Amino acid sequence: MVRIIQYRKLCNGCNACVELDPARWRISKSDGKSILVGGAENNGFTTLLASDGEYELSKLAEQRCSLKVIRVHKV
Ligand code: SF4
Repeated sequence: MVRIIQYRKLCNGCNACVELDPARWRISKSDGKSILVGGAENNGFTTLLASDGEYELSKLAEQRCSLKVIRVHKV
């Protein structure tokens, strides 16, 4: 499994994650920040356990995130 964590509070809505993986990320119409689709939000962090098949794309999102607010780990 892959754990994806987004510190959403600091997201600036740059859209890089959405362009890379629109099935997993989208921009919220209400606050302009990106949403980790399927994730659970707690204390400003959104967390999701995804399948191993999402690892490579998620790591790319981690690397391209302009503010480095995405973290991806194999678990
Ligand atoms: S790449 Fe990072 S800063 Fe940009 S929208 Fe996605 S989570 Fe937010």
